[in-house]
Amino acid sequence: MALQLQHAQRMEAVGQLTGGLAHDFNNLLTVIQGNADLLQEVLDGQPELLALAELIQKASLKGSRLTQQLLAFGRKQTLTPEPTNINRLLLESKLLISRTLGEHINIRFDLDDKLWPALIDPGQLEGALLNLVINARDAMPDGGTLTLKTTNLQFSNLDNSKYHELPAGDYVMLEVADTGVGIDPCILEQVFEPFFTTKGAGKGTGLGLSMVFGFTKQSGGHVAVESESEKGTKIMMYLPRSREEERDEPEAEALRPDSPK
Ligand code: ADP
Repeated sequence: MALQLQHAQRMEAVGQLTGGLAHDFNNLLTVIQGNADLLQEVLDGQPELLALAELIQKASLKGSRLTQQLLAFGRKQTLTPEPTNINRLLLESKLLISRTLGEHINIRFDLDDKLWPALIDPGQLEGALLNLVINARDAMPDGGTLTLKTTNLQFSNLDNSKYHELPAGDYVMLEVADTGVGIDPCILEQVFEPFFTTKGAGKGTGLGLSMVFGFTKQSGGHVAVESESEKGTKIMMYLPRSREEERDEPEAEALRPDSPK
């Protein structure tokens, strides 16, 4: 318990620092991007110089994506929470998910058809989901199965020592599980820290799970990980229940996992 608390405090301190830095850095990138845009207009007709301006543009866009992840970790994103049907969001993302995974990985849906709406920013949840799907793909180079599971949970159902940071209440759980290589128990504590990666230079940024961590916290939820070497990994996101239903309910047909896109 004391160790868990120390870890939570460290994450909090790192979050404050990186959030502040990312915010200032993001402002600088906006200036770079704006000027690269202008340069491209001025340099129209001068292909060599135009190519250089495009390089500036691409690099600053990449930087901007990284700072967005850091802002999320530092809980400095502007969230627009709304009642969200997570089953629907998952099914609408099915095509993107299967393209990201590739043909050698199967997708399985295990969705609670009585799922409560969650009060979250759906765009940010899509970003978090994509980060988890990319990690699952990287963990299953020889193929496997990705399972997306949703269920309703009340605080009393949760193991209190593990989820002590969550206030009592109702939560919607979204679990992303893979049958991949798993995470070494020695590094399990570190995976949500920014810049922690085992993927090697140029492959991983170490910001995917940090973004997921910050997003769930900022939404009033929690994220947990369970993993077993050579068996696979489960990431559970606990997101607050919305008391309001989602506006604009979809047709029942569109909610079936096997319905065509
Ligand atoms: P990145 O993917 O850029 O390395 P992340 O923050 O998303 O950054 O993940 C940090 C590390 O956690 C990864 O480098 C990997 O070691 C480990 N990890 C995350 N998800 C999984 C997974 N599903 N299976 C195995 N290892 C994982």
